[in-house]
Amino acid sequence: MQVIDSTESLAKALAARRGAGMARPPLGLVPTMGALHAGHLSLAAAARSQCDTVVLSVFVNPTQFGPDEDLDTYPRDLDGDASKAEAAGVDILFAPSTAEMHPGQMAPPAALYGMLEGARRHGHFQGVATVVAKLFDLVRPERAYFGEKDYQQVLVVRHLVAEGPFPVEIVACPTVREPDGLALSSRNARLTPPERQAARVLYQALLAGRAAIEGGGREPEAATASMAATLDQEPLARLDYAAVVQPNDLAPALPPLRGELRLLVAAHVGAVRLIDNMGAQAG
Ligand code: AMP
Repeated sequence: MQVIDSTESLAKALAARRGAGMARPPLGLVPTMGALHAGHLSLAAAARSQCDTVVLSVFVNPTQFGPDEDLDTYPRDLDGDASKAEAAGVDILFAPSTAEMHPGQMAPPAALYGMLEGARRHGHFQGVATVVAKLFDLVRPERAYFGEKDYQQVLVVRHLVAEGPFPVEIVACPTVREPDGLALSSRNARLTPPERQAARVLYQALLAGRAAIEGGGREPEAATASMAATLDQEPLARLDYAAVVQPNDLAPALPPLRGELRLLVAAHVGAVRLIDNMGAQAG
């Protein structure tokens, strides 16, 4: 595995591999912020099984963090990431400095950027889109792998590809969970043991919301109320939002609920903000 920290070396390494026939299409890109866990590695495994070359990027992108968010305390472990990426069969680990990426704010905000997560984290998706566009431009992958764990992010990236010049296929991979249902996240490392126990309530809230819908409920409020009530029972958790939306554009689901829907939840557990989501089928 090559470990590369500059855009110039990345361009050279990709050109050399392509020239030598070592990087035939498809080339797969897995963008991450590092502190790799089994969720990230499931994306790398999907890329490994489908692509000739796999590039995994590690970049804690400052432009997707708000001023009061956890940029400074976000977990970082490049040595650990390198061993995990190598064991997962990654060909190139691209870990640029912030100066190397100098992400500005350029992506034109779509309505999607301002809803749900975007309404709480101003500029977050512009920051994501800017860096993903930059990575697409540098790596020129045929496929890029994202986790459904960050459901809105997948839609933002699909929108970026639909509007932009990048001939890349977006592959969305299912959420990897702990045995008790908690979605793996780099931020879970910052939970205390009692908070870690409490954090499974996000998954339980999603199950409660799904049961309300799949049990025949036709009102979105009934589903969001059972999600909120589940969260409420956990004293260490504080609900940020619980929503039932259309899966393709996150528009609020209207009564009577019908067809495929997405449930999304965000909550604070101690000082850590967690998100999760799940599909549900009404009717
Ligand atoms: P991050 O490092 O948090 O920016 O995540 C990098 C990629 O890994 C994103 O596409 C995430 O959606 C994905 N990811 C994070 N956690 C999980 C998980 N538990 N299961 C599947 N994919 C995940």
